[in-house]
Amino acid sequence: MRELLNEPLFRHGYWRVGGPLERLVVVETAAELAALVDVRLVLGNGSNLLIPDAGLTGTTVRFGGEFRGLEVLRDGPGDVVLRAGAGLLNAVLLARLDRLGLGGLGCLAGVPGTIGGAVAMNAGTALGELADCLVAVAGVDGQRIERGMLPMHYRHGGLPDGFIVAAAELRASRVGLDVERMRIADHLARRKATQPLDLPSCGSVFKNPAGHHAGRLIESVGLKGWRSGAAEISERHANFIVNHGGAASLDVMSCIRTAFGRVLQQTGVALVPEVQVFGEWPPELWPLLPPPA
Ligand SMILES: Cc1cc2nc3c(=O)[nH]c(=O)nc-3n(C[C@H](O)[C@H](O)[C@H](O)COP(=O)(O)OP(=O)(O)OC[C@H]3O[C@@H](n4cnc5c(N)ncnc54)[C@H](O)[C@@H]3O)c2cc1C
Repeated sequence: MRELLNEPLFRHGYWRVGGPLERLVVVETAAELAALVDVRLVLGNGSNLLIPDAGLTGTTVRFGGEFRGLEVLRDGPGDVVLRAGAGLLNAVLLARLDRLGLGGLGCLAGVPGTIGGAVAMNAGTALGELADCLVAVAGVDGQRIERGMLPMHYRHGGLPDGFIVAAAELRASRVGLDVERMRIADHLARRKATQPLDLPSCGSVFKNPAGHHAGRLIESVGLKGWRSGAAEISERHANFIVNHGGAASLDVMSCIRTAFGRVLQQTGVALVPEVQVFGEWPPELWPLLPPPA
């Protein structure tokens, strides 16, 4: 187990913003995880979260060691069930599956997080979502929850409050790998052409409301290119907020607040953030106000 005090999130998070984590513990074994109490934040790969510039008090946990492992639990003629540790990166999982001649998890292609984060967020793309291939999750002390017991929906993992994912059982497939490889390549090329992947961001900031695209709504109210300090509502894709270098968390939050406020005012749609926000913020910025009743 490694313990870091006052470790800035900006060194770990994809936005390159965020103040010190009072106590960051990297656990390597199940026993170390079970011994931790009062965990305030579970940090995956930091690709979908925001904390204030003042930082976050309490204990943050991150996964190393055995939590980055991958094992085959059941090997059938078509389907294979795998156990992936919460700290395993999606990209590493996909590369390892590909080498084993396995597919079925293409929904994680281009999602720069860990398996734990993918479960918590029900990560997904145009190729599907994690819920489609999740069999069960394992928590601290071997607690196991079957997929059917989790109310997963669009970008929502449905985990019980405070549940820490230690590993996920996932269904992979031996069938259709060539087709999946082509679909992944097309999908990644489309993202590269339409998203500002050359600058730090956390991907889509807001969920797409039913029947709308969050990015198009933000664009329609004239906010493409709107800036607070070095944070910008991307010119390329308005549902991305990018860091041009040296942005503060407060700048990112100002962009979030401005997009939410103006879209609500001009279109009546209350955007729901996909990004996970932790810590204390000025009340005029966060939480975002619900629409008037
Ligand atoms: C360039 C870019 C593109 C992206 N594209 C996509 C996309 O196409 N589709 C998509 O769905 N997302 C996308 N994202 C967002 C992000 O990658 C996903 O939400 C990802 O699943 C987050 O995983 P993470 O490990 O980085 O989690 P973090 O960002 O570290 O954490 C996110 C949330 O998950 C919780 N969490 C993390 N690990 C655990 C665990 N083990 N147990 C319990 N809770 C946990 C955290 O506490 C937090 O609430 C993108 C992000 C970027 C930067």
